[in-house]
Amino acid sequence: MKLVAEGKTKKVLFDEGARKYFLEFKDDITAFNMVKHEKMKGKGELNCGITAILFEVLKKNGIPMAYVKKIDEKTIEVRDVKMIPVEVVVRNRAYGSFLKRFNFKEGEEFKKPLVEFFFKDDEKNDPQLTRELFEFLDIANEIEIKKMKAYALKINEILKEIFKKIDIVLVDFKIEFGKNNDNNIILADEIDPDSCRLWGKNGEMYDKERYRKGLDGVMEHYNEILNRLKKSARLTI
Ligand code: UDP
Repeated sequence: MKLVAEGKTKKVLFDEGARKYFLEFKDDITAFNMVKHEKMKGKGELNCGITAILFEVLKKNGIPMAYVKKIDEKTIEVRDVKMIPVEVVVRNRAYGSFLKRFNFKEGEEFKKPLVEFFFKDDEKNDPQLTRELFEFLDIANEIEIKKMKAYALKINEILKEIFKKIDIVLVDFKIEFGKNNDNNIILADEIDPDSCRLWGKNGEMYDKERYRKGLDGVMEHYNEILNRLKKSARLTI
């Protein structure tokens, strides 16, 4: 296996014989642009398991994606894609960076979901993108932006439903897209408690916000999400 790229929490691997790509989930957890960073045993396996279950359900619902299948405890097979350097954020409630910019009550439910785009650049703290900037920086065209937004909203509806079944509120989440060989936009990366805000009925946090806030039991809460999803989906992945 050849290491193609390594990020904060995942590795991209290429099997030259089989000509297949893989994503390996690492045990690292980071926050505030690497200001906080440590390893948490089992995190890779938890996020791999959660991503695989969510992607399987999204796939059944017709979302085109790079995800192919789960290979082992911390690896998924993925299709070859050219990543679009954009974080697509969907919000159902006011929290996080939204509250820093707009005067809403913390946790307030929106009348309709909000989709926002941010340019992936840690050094510049992921600046927000406008239509003008998409064009100016030659990141994506109007049709591609519309496609990403439409997929993001559909994914939100499916995810909200999945999480509702396990008594979890999907506050917000981040997804990333890539382009396949046919130049079609497809869902890529991961979806797990690192990239979502997940609240229990009493407002308990089951996601990376626990780590950001220095709360205990981060992995226990990730594990609870995986167990509830497994039970709910009756999947054996
Ligand atoms: N998010 C992410 N990666 C990032 C930034 C945000 O996965 O680099 C997720 C975050 O976990 C949350 C959603 O995107 O579920 C919205 O995050 P927000 O814009 O509120 O940013 P933050 O509060 O992390 O600055």
